[in-house]
Amino acid sequence: MTDVSPEVADPGLPTGSDHPGSGVGGSGWLVWPLTTLCAVFRPIWFFSSVVRRMSFGVSLTGAILNVALGVGIPLLVIGIASEGLPNDISAVVVLAALGTYAVLVVLSATGLFLSALLLAPAMSGVGSLWQALKRSMAVVSGVSSLCPVLGAAVIMFAVHGEAITDWLRARYGYEWVGLFMANLAMVPALWSLVWLLLGLFLDGRGRGQDDRPRGECRCERCGYDLKIIPEEQVCPECGHPVACSFDPERRAPPPIEDPGGALLPRLAATLWLAFWTPKRFWQRHRVRRDNRRARNAFLAVILWGCCLLSAGHVFCLAVLLSISGEETTGMTVVAGLWMFMSVSAGVLWTNQLVLLIGQAISRVRGNTMRSDELARAGYYALGLPALVEVVAVHLGILFVVLAVWVWIPSVFVGAGTGSERRIAAAVLSGSALVCGLVIVAMGVWSLVSVARSHEACRYANY
Ligand SMILES: [Zn+2]
Repeated sequence: MTDVSPEVADPGLPTGSDHPGSGVGGSGWLVWPLTTLCAVFRPIWFFSSVVRRMSFGVSLTGAILNVALGVGIPLLVIGIASEGLPNDISAVVVLAALGTYAVLVVLSATGLFLSALLLAPAMSGVGSLWQALKRSMAVVSGVSSLCPVLGAAVIMFAVHGEAITDWLRARYGYEWVGLFMANLAMVPALWSLVWLLLGLFLDGRGRGQDDRPRGECRCERCGYDLKIIPEEQVCPECGHPVACSFDPERRAPPPIEDPGGALLPRLAATLWLAFWTPKRFWQRHRVRRDNRRARNAFLAVILWGCCLLSAGHVFCLAVLLSISGEETTGMTVVAGLWMFMSVSAGVLWTNQLVLLIGQAISRVRGNTMRSDELARAGYYALGLPALVEVVAVHLGILFVVLAVWVWIPSVFVGAGTGSERRIAAAVLSGSALVCGLVIVAMGVWSLVSVARSHEACRYANY
């Protein structure tokens, strides 16, 4: 049950760097400002190297301190600056304020821990969930480092907000002030998304994609112990030729990991086959490898899909606005950016949840593969459903917008009677509902596909 192979040695770091107490594992209070500064100013170095040396305690402490600082200081400053505070602050008010603050920090810390848990399958070069959680907590801690910076920005805005808006109004006119405000609210969201993606894409950078033979004498199809069976015979349990189980050349790398040829067809072939026919796919391809390339391919699929479709959305909105006789403003582009961020983040988190549940199910069923190998099979199985989800979400939102546009007479200036508009709105709402159902169905189906992939990889020796 516990033959998870040991963590592959990391050539980029001194030996033993993952043990608590060594590397960046001393005192959380002392290391915290350093790691936070490093994550803010040198994110590429932080996410590709420093996260591997941080202990779980340091990461968790740092994340909590970042949130406490980011939430606390603005509240304090705004509280003091506002004139609503009574002169005779009673102990009850102070206690209530402190209590609210503590609850906020505890809730945020819980959210950070859950995020780290969801991100754990994305970590590369890890054998167990605990090793993965340790790394993903460091990544989350790095993302949370923007909290103090944003807190400082909020303070600056609270103090100098009026002067800033006056200056903007005088220089660019009134409508640009609104656009600036909309963009200002976007900064934390965009920043955290970019830092999170950096953390995921850069994890495991610079390390080899070596194969890791399992080193056991089991049948690759059914797991039967073949120690005493001669190579020319077949497996007594399932009839699979013994020689096949121990022939590394029989398994090729998946098309996307095999250099040469155009990237897009290789990606499409990998995602299609891994989703539809996982059993056949994993009988022919290398199983025992790190998840880095699978994860990055999966992330790229989501990001490119969201990028193209959100741009398409902006185009559709501009067309609708021009039909309605309105002008396209910078706000249309801002809306497109919001859509890109929310859909990509939503699809990413949902699929991470599916992957985590899939891994838990496989462990319960006695699958002893390494954590990153399970994740690798999972990411290939999830690529296609994630793309379908991205398309369905964008189409669904478009249908809702169109339905509202058709339904409201003051907005819709085209031809058509009341009943025609009603029918059109009903059809559009129905289409939006179908998109929602497709998303739910894909979520369930992708979980089944992940479980099937894990089962297909289970006994592979290479
Ligand atoms: Zn067998």
